[in-house]
Amino acid sequence: MCHTIAELDAAVADCFACPRLVAWREHVAREKRAAFRDETYWGRPVPGYGPDDARLFVVGLAPAAHGGNRTGRMFTGDRSGDVLYAAMHAVGLANQPTATHRDDGLRLHGVRVTSPVHCAPPDNKPTPDERDRCRHWLATEFDLLAPTVRAVVVLGGFGWQALLPVLADAGWIIPRPRPKFGHGAHVQLAPADADRAPLHLFGCYHVSQQNTFTGRLTPAMVEQVLSTAARAAGLDVAPPPFDAPAPPFN
Ligand code: SF4
Repeated sequence: MCHTIAELDAAVADCFACPRLVAWREHVAREKRAAFRDETYWGRPVPGYGPDDARLFVVGLAPAAHGGNRTGRMFTGDRSGDVLYAAMHAVGLANQPTATHRDDGLRLHGVRVTSPVHCAPPDNKPTPDERDRCRHWLATEFDLLAPTVRAVVVLGGFGWQALLPVLADAGWIIPRPRPKFGHGAHVQLAPADADRAPLHLFGCYHVSQQNTFTGRLTPAMVEQVLSTAARAAGLDVAPPPFDAPAPPFN
């Protein structure tokens, strides 16, 4: 049982529940990428990052082998994080546009970044069993932040599918049929419990190189979703950029 986000983060970082992922994260940490051979890899589960009274969640997929698994912080030290934190900074959710290591001074304003799977998986693909085994950590994170959280941005279809049952466990009603993922998808979830508030759920293409290098996802598109979601959550941020193609928010 975790009663605070600090307790949760410590417990997540000490989890060994998935044998395949434990072996992989430690293998990567031993072998390293040549460019980082002088660094000591984290090689453990990567907890969420951000304040414990966040109004907005950003939910990804899982840490990258040489990103979060190396640095010990979500989206830190990889190209995906470069895009995400630059966009957060542009709209006023981060104090700086870069995230290179855990002591780089990055501070997030009103937003917490997390993922449904906390260990780096081979080929960035956790199994359904691993996803389900990790689910309780994210449900606890939502439970602890329920007094303040009002919106979620989900990066990619995997995170969307993984998050819906978590939100059902954590006290929100998931409509039937289930809302579909898409860039710009938006649905407001009604609370199932008296101590929950309505929750805005937004979809955004994942900030992976596969999307950003091909132009499928531009920085302005990320900023637009983040700004819209942050405003829905009651955060005082910059308005969405006007040069981004408008997603089909509904
Ligand atoms: S993926 Fe989640 S449940 Fe599995 S070992 Fe990592 S932290 Fe634990």
